[in-house]
Amino acid sequence: MAIIRFRALDEIAKRKAPQFTPPSNKISDYFGQNVFGKETMRGYLSSDIFDRLLSTIEKGEKMDSDVADAVASGMRAWAMSRGVTHYTHWFQPLTGATAEKHDSFFDLMSDGRAIEKFKGSALVQQEPDASSFPNGGIRNTFEARGYTAWDPSSPAFIYESNNVKTLCIPTVFVSYTGEALDYKAPLLKALSFVDKAATEVVQEYFDKGVTRVTASLGIEQEYFLVDRALYMARPDLVMAGRTVFGHSPAKGQQLEDHYFGSIPARAHSFMADFETEALKLGIPIRTRHNEVAPSQFECAPTFEEVNLAIDHNQLLMDVMDRVAERHGFKVLLHEKPFAGVNGSGKHNNWSLITNTGRNLFAPSTKAKENLQFLVFFVNTIMAVYEHADLLRASIASASNDHRLGANEAPPAIMSVFIGSQLTEVLNELEKNATVKVGKGDNVYMKLGINKIPPILMDNTDRNRTSPFAFTGNKFEFRAVGSSANSASAMVVLNTIVGEQLIKFKADVDKLIAKGKKKEVAIIDVLRDYIKKSKAIRFEGNGYSDEWKKEAAKRGLSNIVGTPEALEVYLSAKSKKLFTSAGIMNERELEARQEIRFEEYIKRIQIEGRVLGDLASNHVIPTAINYQNKLIQNLKGLKEIGIDIKSSPVANIVKEITEHMNIIITKVEEMTEARKAANKIEDAHKRALAYYNKVKPYFDEIRYHVDKLELLVDDEDWPLVKYRELLFVR
Ligand code: ADP
Ligand code: MG
Repeated sequence: MAIIRFRALDEIAKRKAPQFTPPSNKISDYFGQNVFGKETMRGYLSSDIFDRLLSTIEKGEKMDSDVADAVASGMRAWAMSRGVTHYTHWFQPLTGATAEKHDSFFDLMSDGRAIEKFKGSALVQQEPDASSFPNGGIRNTFEARGYTAWDPSSPAFIYESNNVKTLCIPTVFVSYTGEALDYKAPLLKALSFVDKAATEVVQEYFDKGVTRVTASLGIEQEYFLVDRALYMARPDLVMAGRTVFGHSPAKGQQLEDHYFGSIPARAHSFMADFETEALKLGIPIRTRHNEVAPSQFECAPTFEEVNLAIDHNQLLMDVMDRVAERHGFKVLLHEKPFAGVNGSGKHNNWSLITNTGRNLFAPSTKAKENLQFLVFFVNTIMAVYEHADLLRASIASASNDHRLGANEAPPAIMSVFIGSQLTEVLNELEKNATVKVGKGDNVYMKLGINKIPPILMDNTDRNRTSPFAFTGNKFEFRAVGSSANSASAMVVLNTIVGEQLIKFKADVDKLIAKGKKKEVAIIDVLRDYIKKSKAIRFEGNGYSDEWKKEAAKRGLSNIVGTPEALEVYLSAKSKKLFTSAGIMNERELEARQEIRFEEYIKRIQIEGRVLGDLASNHVIPTAINYQNKLIQNLKGLKEIGIDIKSSPVANIVKEITEHMNIIITKVEEMTEARKAANKIEDAHKRALAYYNKVKPYFDEIRYHVDKLELLVDDEDWPLVKYRELLFVR
């Protein structure tokens, strides 16, 4: 009998949802209580230091050492008052997780007395011995001198785990020679790049009072919850984060009875618990609901400035994982843990907002603001059109490959959905040939942009199949994977929009210099962009096969695999984009690409190994045992004189034999393919070999294993079944 599986099922039957009581009925009572935010700072810093700190943050200037010392000492006092003994620089290496190395405040003076201290220099910069973080060859391990540097724009926070409290200081991670080794460093550059480009456009053409444009991001996080005992009984989930085998259960998501249904009790208690932890950390989590697939859920915070939103999302994933443990759950953040049902994404809701509080993607009733809206709206579409392949590359990963283009997931073809009303507006603009505007004319009326309906949030118009959709007052990049660090996508999006806005301004200024009226020049350039970028706009069903054909006709790429998608980072066009914008130099781009190839290879390698192990050491022996039982049965039948030649049982024995033979052969072939791939020196070629030569075996082997699952006695089947993983709670 399959002992582990049944023991796990027994364990679950005994589980109860732990009671959870929030610290207060009012969230505002505890929101941000573990954050060294502005309000807290005021109490721990002199007003002079406080003001100087804020101005360094706002202007992005270098911090004076007396300010750093004072802030560090205030931070320590606050942290110690909360029971904290250790601090760590918290950073986001290119592995996708977060990293930390804890140091104690405790120190010995020269006379042997013990004190607690935290100097400004330790706050501002640290040298973690981080030689084993991926660096794509930038930092040779023998000169393991990467350092972390404080990012004062994201507040320090106290992370609690099993009553151990640590002060965490968000930092960037760079090599000694200045190259970025993390996600945050290029992100900060991309954000200030788009800020500058957008501010210039707004100031010059619309509103002199605007001095800053902030990119905002609201990240919807999808995830699966499985019982911890069942999770532990699935080596593939433990090792690879997804199930490599498992026949579809009788019931999947076809009834759609889970979506927006009532949240199961245990899950509900878990959500309330992790949300409370998140809220204490200043993560403004707001919504929770069931998702489409059974046992799939989603949560979302209120949007924030992009850098903060990403720090918060990284932290949130960590908090969810930790809190799940005390609820007997495991959170699956993999993009496609189960075949046949929906995968998980991380919708990135993005917009640009001025320091005067105007969302540049919000249509308005005022004509002038509408022109401004159109400028940002059309330029974003144009940027996506120009750099669709780079956006695709930004979300490429081994795990997201399983999701893109699969069940209810955005396709790997990049396109933009804008809804019927805005399509009409753009069509109208495109049709109007150059308008003559005379003295005294209402220029907006003449240009036909005085009538954009202010409320575009028509839900019937929502198209869930688009990877990049306009949803009323923001764009939603939906192809980002659930386990990803959104920074990768946000670096690209903000850089390409920044670059596009710079081009736009140059184009408009050229026309103005030729004597065109400002508004007319703007509209003329937009009209040109609307025409040029038309191919990227698609309003139909992105999941359909017709779209694949149509997209090919339009010349849009459909890059389905990560190794090919990543190539784009080093195209001449991308290099020019990143270097001229000052986001990343060629060495950094090369290093990043190399790291992601390696990451891809490792993921597929691990999946291949787990799959081979499960097939050879779990499935095949089980099938043989069961086959032997049937053979015993056939022998017995024969003994009492029953003709067994055409008996159904004999057929089952034959079927099992056939499936087993194929599995054994294919696993051997796959292992050989892996060996051959491993010999390839070049990471790109090795990744391609894994994609083309190793990965195809996964589905082939799976098909036969899943058939065996249907044939073998349920009592004997060693792997927790889909119906148990997805429905037992
Ligand atoms: P949906 O229908 O897509 O679930 P929601 O209203 O739930 O839409 O919003 C999803 C996310 O989008 C939330 O995190 C929300 O804060 C964020 N969001 C809303 N407006 C903006 C905006 N202007 N810029 C960025 N994110 C936004
Ligand atoms: Mg959404």
